[in-house]
Amino acid sequence: MTTHHSKVLILGSGPAGFTAAIYAARANLSPILVAGMQPGGQLTITTDVENYPGFAAAIQGPWLMEQMQAQAEHVGTRFFADTIVAVDLKARPFSCTGDSGDLYTGDTLIIATGAQARWLGLPSEQKFQGFGLSACATCDGFFFRDKEVAVVGGGNSAVEEALFLANMASKVTLIHRRDKFRAEKILQDRLFANPRIRVLWNQVVEELAGEANPPSLKKLKLRDTKTGAASELAVDGLFVAIGHDPNTGLFKGQLAMDAEGYIVTKPGTTQTSVPGVFAAGDVQDKVFRQAVTAAGTGCMGALEADRYLAHHGQVASVAAQ
Ligand code: FAD
Ligand code: NAP
Repeated sequence: MTTHHSKVLILGSGPAGFTAAIYAARANLSPILVAGMQPGGQLTITTDVENYPGFAAAIQGPWLMEQMQAQAEHVGTRFFADTIVAVDLKARPFSCTGDSGDLYTGDTLIIATGAQARWLGLPSEQKFQGFGLSACATCDGFFFRDKEVAVVGGGNSAVEEALFLANMASKVTLIHRRDKFRAEKILQDRLFANPRIRVLWNQVVEELAGEANPPSLKKLKLRDTKTGAASELAVDGLFVAIGHDPNTGLFKGQLAMDAEGYIVTKPGTTQTSVPGVFAAGDVQDKVFRQAVTAAGTGCMGALEADRYLAHHGQVASVAAQ
């Protein structure tokens, strides 16, 4: 076992983690960043990113994250391809145990562990995961070329998944439990203008059915949320796009969280209930959940960590450069 110590320890390699690393490194704090099981975070499972400032043309999510990593390393971040499996926030320095067996300690800690896709919670989902059921059209859409697929959800993700799938599938049915989307208007306009996509309003998926051996999804059992009527929909694939859960299981009992498991931060700051521990990005934000807001709070986390260290006499404060 090797111990790696830093003044600023950052967990997560999404926009929040890398931005925190860039600011902490440029403040001469020589941060350590532990990347986790999804290096680059959620943007690595999408294609076009059109709303991250600084790029007139659409850029690719994975490319953007490669650039953030390169920038963070260029200014002095120490990058570790490890996943934290246990934390101790009572001890000082804070300590985090990696899957590799290595120990990471930090005088301050910035948690930027983001969020992950939510599933419907049906027993039959497990049977068809990877056999017709997916939560990532970018990853699995190719397998449904000229086939009929459905998407569940009513937010930006669901509408984007449906639009992406319409480029390859013969037919896309978007199933939503209400009669109104929460997706942005511009995305809705594109959706309604696409002849390959139809919307089933007020419907929930109650069961996935198909062949057992090898598993192959064939149909969805639906229920109308207004009338209670049951129906079936023949599909080759189902994409679940119903939101995300924050990756906060590690910190349960050690940090204040809200009812949905998001880390609570003091308004206008990234300060958590434990002094010296900061939280940035989707792990503490269920309202905006954007790359640019994650990056913004990552910046805040690093600046606050710097000020905390200066206040506690551990390092001379270096202003944001
Ligand atoms: P994430 O990107 O979720 O990254 C979390 C990081 O934490 C990962 O690197 C993971 O490996 C790491 N981690 C987790 N657990 C551990 C652990 N135990 N130990 C160490 N590390 C850990 N936003 C936009 O602004 N524009 C878009 O076009 C856009 N498109 C999107 C498309 C899709 C399909 C999705 C799902 C999201 C999209 N978003 C978009 C939202 C955006 O991706 C997120 O808001 C953003 O990535 C959040 O950044 P984050 O740094 O908080 O966390
Ligand atoms: P979201 O905005 O939380 O939407 C989740 C959708 O799934 C909602 O419509 C919800 O229905 C539905 N849903 C939730 N649980 C369900 C269940 N058990 N059964 C059926 N339906 C269920 O999540 P998201 O679309 O993944 O977006 C997450 C964040 O990322 C958002 O902030 C979004 O703006 C951002 N994002 C941005 C972009 C972009 O800017 N281009 C792209 C993707 C994502 P209700 O509406 O009834 O609650």
